[in-house]
Amino acid sequence: MNDHGDIVSARTPRLFVDAALTPEAIVSIGPEQTHYLLRVMRLSPASAVTVFNGRDGLWLGQLVGNDRRRVGVRVDKQLKPQPKSIGPWLAFGVPKRHSLETMIQKGTELGVTKFLPIASERSMAERLNVERLVRIAMEAAEQCERLDIPAVEPVMRIGDLFHGWPDDRVLFWCDEHGGGEPFADAADALLDEDPNKPAPQWGLMIGPEGGFAPSELDGLDELSFLKRVTLGPRILRAETAAVVALAIGQALAGDGDNPVRSAA
Ligand code: SAM
Repeated sequence: MNDHGDIVSARTPRLFVDAALTPEAIVSIGPEQTHYLLRVMRLSPASAVTVFNGRDGLWLGQLVGNDRRRVGVRVDKQLKPQPKSIGPWLAFGVPKRHSLETMIQKGTELGVTKFLPIASERSMAERLNVERLVRIAMEAAEQCERLDIPAVEPVMRIGDLFHGWPDDRVLFWCDEHGGGEPFADAADALLDEDPNKPAPQWGLMIGPEGGFAPSELDGLDELSFLKRVTLGPRILRAETAAVVALAIGQALAGDGDNPVRSAA
């Protein structure tokens, strides 16, 4: 409850703010989010707002000021602690813009914690507007009520991806040529029956529109952390493959701390 008895409801706006969250702090809200609060959500001073910064959990606050260009939120109390950021990584050959933005938005909704763009021989771009992609991830995190924002790494070469990949995280390479095992089997094998074991760490690698070049795939099968998998008999668009594989993986390997399967 805030002073005017407003409660936090499904309609209470939830905003990402890049600021420390402590009781009584006044967080300045930028013009875009101010417009959303005043014009779209039609809030007035003292209305309830919830804020998160990706580090300190979810906090209740109250709108202060009604300057059309810039309002503030007075931080009140913590509603939810910051959850552990557990989730798959998504490496992908950079596709064209629309597919890329879909991958970031849907990947965020599906719990991706790190995006790793690969400048492969057939990818559509060598440079990325990472700031824009982070903004898309933030908006998707606000919408799906995540309290963490996935990282978007700078564009890298496929060799650098493998060089930096952690040995304790399985990397499923989605091979459209059908060379691997069914992904559902591979993901299912990840889930350890011991509920006390931490959620398995895993990641996906998806090629660009034209797929990876043969030279980029040399030696992949020697990588201890890599498993080649198939998503079925049809050739999926890169963004479709990402959504399909993330949904299967989260459902079978366990979505972070929120197992999405009933106990056997
Ligand atoms: N060379 C094709 C083309 O030009 O359309 C395939 C590229 S496909 C659009 C992009 C990526 O999606 C592939 O490199 C692969 O990672 C993934 N993909 C698509 N269909 C798949 C399938 N049936 N099984 C596994 N991965 C798939």
